[in-house]
This record gives sequence, C-alpha cells and structure tokens, in this order.
Amino acid sequence: MYKAPRGTFDILPEDQEYWKYVTDSAISVGQLYGYQPLETPIFEDAQLFSRSAAEGTDVADKEMYIFTDRGGQKLALKAEGTAPICRAYLEHGMFNLPQPVKLYYITSFFRYERPQAGRYRQHHQCGFESIGDADPLLDAEVIDLSQRFLYSLGITEFSTQLNSIGCQLCQPIYIKALIEYYSQHETELCPDCKVRLLKNPLRLLDCKKRICQKIANAAPKITDYLCPECQAHFQSVQHYLTVLGIPFTLNHRLVRGLDYYSRTVFELETLNGKSQSALVGGGRYDNLIEQLGGRPTPAVGFATGIERLILKLKETGETIKPHPAPMAFIAHLGDAAKLAAIKLSARLRAAGIPVVLATGAKSLKAQLRQSNSLGTSYAIIIGEQELSSANIILRDMKAKEQTLIPLANIDKALLQKQSQGQV
Ligand code: AMP
Repeated sequence: MYKAPRGTFDILPEDQEYWKYVTDSAISVGQLYGYQPLETPIFEDAQLFSRSAAEGTDVADKEMYIFTDRGGQKLALKAEGTAPICRAYLEHGMFNLPQPVKLYYITSFFRYERPQAGRYRQHHQCGFESIGDADPLLDAEVIDLSQRFLYSLGITEFSTQLNSIGCQLCQPIYIKALIEYYSQHETELCPDCKVRLLKNPLRLLDCKKRICQKIANAAPKITDYLCPECQAHFQSVQHYLTVLGIPFTLNHRLVRGLDYYSRTVFELETLNGKSQSALVGGGRYDNLIEQLGGRPTPAVGFATGIERLILKLKETGETIKPHPAPMAFIAHLGDAAKLAAIKLSARLRAAGIPVVLATGAKSLKAQLRQSNSLGTSYAIIIGEQELSSANIILRDMKAKEQTLIPLANIDKALLQKQSQGQV
C-alpha cells in the first residue's frame, strides 16, 4: 500500500479548521499592517536558492529538492520564501512603486530534513516581507506584527529573541575573532561544528549540543564588533520596540539559518513546548536583492511555520470550531423516492442549503446512521407513502423528533432554521 512520502502528511478534514484559523489570522494581521498577498511558483530556478542561501548553509548544501526538467533546466522545489518574493519584486519592477512594498505569502516549502515532530520535508509557512526601506522602525514593526499574529491565535507564551549580526563591513571582522576563539576549542567541538568552523562560522553560535553551547556562551559577542551604523540601527530598533511596548530579550548567540541576513535577526520561541521551539524567524536582508541582480535594496521580514503553530495550539488545548457539517441528509426509500430526493437535493443546494444525498438503496436505519456520523442537524426522509401525499419527514437528529412537512415547504422550513441558528 502506498504511504505519503517520509516527512510529508495529509491535512485531514478534522485538521482543516486549524489551518483555516491560522491562515485567516495571517491574512487579517497582514491587512492590519497594510501587506498585500503574493504567490510565487512552487518551483524556481535552482540557483535562486543556492545563490541566496550561500554555501555552507543547510538549505543550500543538503536540503534542496533539485531536479532537471525535460528541457534540461535545473529547478528546485521552493526551499524558502524570501528569495522568490525578492525575485518577483525585481521581475515585476516593484522598485518603481512607493517603498517599502509590503507583501505576504502562505505557501509550502520543501527541505530534505530529518523528520520529527514540528520538522517536515514539506511544511508550510506564512511569511511577511517589507522591501525597499532601511528604517529601523520597519524592523520593530515586523517584530510587532509577528507578536500580534501569535496573540491573535491565542498563543501567548513565547519569548522574542533579538540580535544584530552586523553588515558586510563589521561582520567579517567579528567572524575573524570568532574563528580565532573557536580554533582554540576545535578538538572539543561536535563533528557538525568542526565543519561549521570551516564553512559557516556564525552558525557555530546556535549549535544545540550541550558542549558546543558552553563554548558558544563564552564566545566573543557580535554586538561588541558592530560598526557605528549597525550599532545605531540596532539601538533604534530597540528604541522603537520600547515605544511600541514590545517585549524582547537580547541574545548574542542568535543567528539565522540562511546567510542573506544582515543587521537585525529575531526569533519567537515557545517557552515550554515539547516539539520544535522556534515558531517565528526573521530579520533584515539588505544585501539579498542586490545579490539577485537588483539595485541595493534594504528589506526586512519574517516567516512562521504553520505546522508548529498548529502543534502549539493543540498542545495548549486551544479549541477551534470544527468545520460545519452539512445541514441535512436526504434519505430515500424506493425508486420513486430516490428520484424525488435527487430533485430536492438540487433545489435545496440552489437555495444555499448544504445537503448530502444518500446514494444506493440502503435501509433507513443505515441511512440515518450515515446522517448521524456526518453530524447533520436534520435528516429528510422521503418514503413512497409520504411521497404519495407530497410530504416528507423532517427528523431533528439531536432531539430525535420527526415532523411531517409538505415537500413544497421544506426549503422555507430549513432556511428559517438556518436563520435562527438551529443547525
Ligand atoms: P526558516 O525558513 O528556516 O527561517 O523557518 C521559518 C519558520 O518555519 C521556523 O521558525 C519554523 O516555525 C518553520 N520551519 C522551518 N523549517 C521547518 C520544517 N522543516 N518543518 C516545519 N516547520 C519548519
């Protein structure tokens, strides 16, 4: 028997309301801050990701789903959201619009990762990007937006970790100091960190292994190496956050998985979760658009993993209203009744009444059992006998009460119950 590929899953009907709840909140919060939706293709030129993610990052090195299409073009399934949004910004000349351009997306991503709770090979994110303005106010605003998004879902227990990782001027000086420090500890490092030391030293700071964490805690702090411009920017971000009343914690070990970040980086982490703790990740990426062939264009944004938010909602027992069941089930007994039922189903649906029509020729008991398991509020029973007098039986499934109603009046009766909320 076939199974969904490892690290992927089906979003079953009973989970759909969680998805809708999260994505509807994303749309509302996006609107609240003036963001417009943008959807990019599910695959892109593979170089878009490999160039922007930079060598030495997991996404570029070992996680991308890359394939060559029949025309010989090397493509990659979408590995992250920011590079495609920037590609679209450039391709559609959005730099000619008043800046910043604020865009959001809700989409799937594909990464060949080791699957575990909260970590999948196909996962979904809501992301928000504000492109074309260097004002530190925007950094504070996207952090504010990310917090409001979590609050709007009812997620209140999280901490906001904030750091600056400098720019192309000051970061290399810091990295040199970091390499010098880590070189003295090379033999103590985990195998992954030994590779990071050569390929992507900043990532040494967020290794989750206990021994490496100890070393990272005593490492030089990037905030001591920031150039005056980055220092001023970081101070302003903190100032604006304070003005907005946004709580945050400075974390000098916070870096991000993708290399295009500069200056502000932040994460919203759950405080006591059982699964993956990072709910939101984001920051400034002032060099990415230039890297993709555009003019230097500052930008800032964040993304949040929908699966992790849903896990968190389930963990905290947040109840989501289930997907509404159809209002009525139409049961029929006999050939003539089946034809009358078919016509009635068309009439009721045309009137906007959600119904499920019984198929086959099952016993009334079996049909009512189906109505019950679908959770319909009513069953309409059409039998030969009632039909001969142009009536139907309307059964209230919860109260288990039955009334005889003229076939011609059933639409009106159900619409009335619908408007009275009796569904
Ligand atoms: P990233 O694109 O790596 O910055 O991740 C942004 C957010 O997406 C993270 O904070 C997580 O909430 C979520 N996320 C990242 N990778 C995965 C994954 N493999 N499975 C599920 N969620 C993920």
